[in-house]
Amino acid sequence: MQHILDAILAGDTATEDFANLDLPESYKAVTVHKDEVGMFEGLDSKEKDPRKSLHVEDVALPELGPGEAYVAVMASAINYNTVWTSIFEPVSTFGFLERYGRLSELTKRHDLPYHVVGSDLSGVVLKTGAGVTKWKAGDRVVAHCLSVEMESADGHNDSMLDPEQRIWGFETNFGGLAEVALVKSNQLMPKPEHLTWEEAASPGLVNSTAYRQLVSKNGGQMKQGDNVLIWGASGGLGGFATQYALNGGATPVCVVSNEEKAAIARSMGAELIINRSEEAYKFWNDEGTAQDPKEWKRFGAKIRELTGGEDIDIVFEHPGRETFGASVYVTRKGGTITTCASTSGYMHEYDNRYLWMNLKRIISSHFANYRESWEANRLIAQGKIHPTLSRTYTLDQVGQAALDVHHNKHQGKVGVLALSPEEGLGVLNHELREKHLTKINAFRGI
Ligand code: NAP
Repeated sequence: MQHILDAILAGDTATEDFANLDLPESYKAVTVHKDEVGMFEGLDSKEKDPRKSLHVEDVALPELGPGEAYVAVMASAINYNTVWTSIFEPVSTFGFLERYGRLSELTKRHDLPYHVVGSDLSGVVLKTGAGVTKWKAGDRVVAHCLSVEMESADGHNDSMLDPEQRIWGFETNFGGLAEVALVKSNQLMPKPEHLTWEEAASPGLVNSTAYRQLVSKNGGQMKQGDNVLIWGASGGLGGFATQYALNGGATPVCVVSNEEKAAIARSMGAELIINRSEEAYKFWNDEGTAQDPKEWKRFGAKIRELTGGEDIDIVFEHPGRETFGASVYVTRKGGTITTCASTSGYMHEYDNRYLWMNLKRIISSHFANYRESWEANRLIAQGKIHPTLSRTYTLDQVGQAALDVHHNKHQGKVGVLALSPEEGLGVLNHELREKHLTKINAFRGI
């Protein structure tokens, strides 16, 4: 791989030279193994240790199909989906690979006894498959993680509705936590040139998800003046939701669990912050069998205290079972709860009287379509939304990085260097970077 890295670091390698580089037969990748899916049986979720299930090993370069591209990965990032994959919850991702493998001769490649994980990347195109015209070897890119076949009319207005919709590196193989990745070329987008490789790789999945969930007409359709309740406001999704609220003239009400995270929310410009640990909300009884509406009310009173008596227009939901009852309760009459996840449990309970009598709506959201992903990346490239990178690991340390995210010991996004030998490389637009440096560094506590 050294000759590929040398060509990238040289900075002036011509397209033809990139196209002529020898491709490796194998490359280093982070994997889980099919014969280990039962390794954590009987353990509680939090005891399942990604360091035991995530391997770093050489895997064979897969065949390049039509409409696809190999990318030399300079950097990637940890998403919660890698945590789910590594603890084999709620299901093992090998089921996804088997199903994808049954689709066609070409997709059979994905059904292997190992799964190369990771749904973000920044890097350089090495080679494109038949029919690719927009991208060429040498292009500096990031990739979004929507993999769709687009053969069914169902997805023609909104590519997330394609019946063969998958998240690359989670429901497909050959993901971004590796030295080389295989993507569909229409996942590729220009790398924001004022960012380092690791900064540019980090927004992808969560930025696009937050954009659809909160801003898009397919999600919350947030407007100026809305009060937006954001759970985990300095986490992966929440760090972008907070920025979208501020950027779009709304008022974020940020929920966080400690003062460090509160300080990050403030540094983004948020003013209304609830420290859920300090307030010690107890929405559920100890057995986890019943909720306490008095606690919902106490939470709602805190929100009104901060907003000057107003309720929430949109709740940005993802913790799930633990918070969903409270989220439905504190939404204003006619307001919206948008949900994209259930980190604390997917069997939600809420009091439906508060929903229907007050004409509230629950909107489900999942990743983002091609267009939404492009728009979300464009906002990063313009310096209107910023990466939320707090720390960077190497490929060999991915198990530890995933454990930190699993145990909620991180802030914002956790980056991973793949081919890039060090942090800080890859910036071409220094003027734009200088202009936004404070915000780019906000999550690093610099
Ligand atoms: P993250 O970086 O871990 O951030 C989530 C934040 O939520 C945590 O930092 C924590 O913040 C807060 N939180 C966690 N458990 C909570 C609880 N029980 N009650 C209240 N707050 C809680 O993760 P993420 O990347 O934002 O992802 C969050 C979830 O969304 C994951 O389940 C992930 O798989 C899912 N997701 C779905 C999609 C999709 O397309 N459907 C896309 C991205 C992520 P505090 O401790 O500061 O409160």
